[in-house]
Amino acid sequence: MNPCGPAVAFVSIGCRTNQQELFALRGTLLSMGFSIVDLPESAQFVIVNTCSVTSLAETKTGRFLRALSRTAPNARILVTGCFAQQHGSALLEYPGVNWVIGNAHKHRIPSILTESAKEKKLCFTDVDLADETSVFWEDCLYGPETSGRTRFSLKIQEGCDFGCSYCIVPALRGRSRSASKLKLVDIFKRSLDMGYKEIVLTGTHIGQYRDSRDGGGLEELLTRFLKEKGDYRIRLSSLDPRDLTDTIISMAGREKRICDHLHVSVQSLCADVLRSMKRPHEHLETLLERLRSFRQKYPSAGLGADFIVGHPGESGAMFETTLRNAESVGFTYGHVFRFSKRLGTESSLKGDQITESVKKARSAALRDLLQNSRNIFLYSQLSIPLRIIIEDTEPARGVSGNYIKVEVRGMPKGKAQKNRWVTARLNGEAARGYQIAVGLCQNS
Ligand code: SF4
Repeated sequence: MNPCGPAVAFVSIGCRTNQQELFALRGTLLSMGFSIVDLPESAQFVIVNTCSVTSLAETKTGRFLRALSRTAPNARILVTGCFAQQHGSALLEYPGVNWVIGNAHKHRIPSILTESAKEKKLCFTDVDLADETSVFWEDCLYGPETSGRTRFSLKIQEGCDFGCSYCIVPALRGRSRSASKLKLVDIFKRSLDMGYKEIVLTGTHIGQYRDSRDGGGLEELLTRFLKEKGDYRIRLSSLDPRDLTDTIISMAGREKRICDHLHVSVQSLCADVLRSMKRPHEHLETLLERLRSFRQKYPSAGLGADFIVGHPGESGAMFETTLRNAESVGFTYGHVFRFSKRLGTESSLKGDQITESVKKARSAALRDLLQNSRNIFLYSQLSIPLRIIIEDTEPARGVSGNYIKVEVRGMPKGKAQKNRWVTARLNGEAARGYQIAVGLCQNS
């Protein structure tokens, strides 16, 4: 295919795994001679990787698809991801939509586009037939210069074997499957050779990682990665409380090449709410002890969490329990979601739904509390040297190991180079969502 092959535009709606999949697909299509364009209007094909985690995400995706057929009337649209998985062939009714490709069939997208001349509208959404090769098809790497990124997302796992009562993900992403350690180590090494300094491990539920050959889990995988020499760091994406082992905690706290940052999807810190969510509730005290000891033992480490407020049956007293427990941990940041009914989930059928106004009030109260503990954390980080990988240069910005978004001031003009390490100290100021820091030194 000539280098200026058919033009493809990508749109990613949703999670880090969605973004990572489109990143890999981009590499595969580039290597096949497709040209990549930013604007759907100038594309022959538009690939939309969609999300279904909340009803709001669904509404946004539906609205986006309708608008797309107006802004890019000549483009042929391929819809993939969880919204495609959820709605299947009904999406073929949307103007301009030619293909609906479920999560377990994303590896077929390159061949579908190559054979697109056949003009037939297609829909593939069966979810659980996927073997390892079709789930982990991402093999086409390209370096930071081409990707424009400084962090490499490495998908290690897909799907989930649990069944939380509010969650639609297992139905959309299928049972848990893991990429082989052999393959992951190869991609890990190649991404370092290509110049990436930060590797982010992603998946639907990375704690469920299991190598099919030796049964090794996330800890074994990390230990194997750390055998690779080099000046890099590994960041873990979201962990379920069931995966927060003492080993993972000490690795994040002590191992220099693992970011001192943990993000835990706690959802609630009240045993009664956790029970009604069908999430582990018996060991809440153990979890709280682990989270508190992580904060105490490693006071400079970042500790974030996801919360759902307003799950059916959550009383004011139960919410107060979550607030008090969150305060006792001292999270350094948090993401708060209002419960959203998902068709096909148990929680959507529960009688004692919470009103939107109460959800809103609880969400605001929890955000305030988390912002307060974040301010205390940021104050404790003043004057502590932070290592940042420069992602943007004008102004120089990046993220520290302990997950602080930093804008580095005081570097000689033009000195800041993308994908370079910089050590800097926070000076207590903040601007546009970034903490201001003074650059101390820049090295390789
Ligand atoms: S563990 Fe996570 S992905 Fe799995 S069902 Fe629960 S919320 Fe969904």
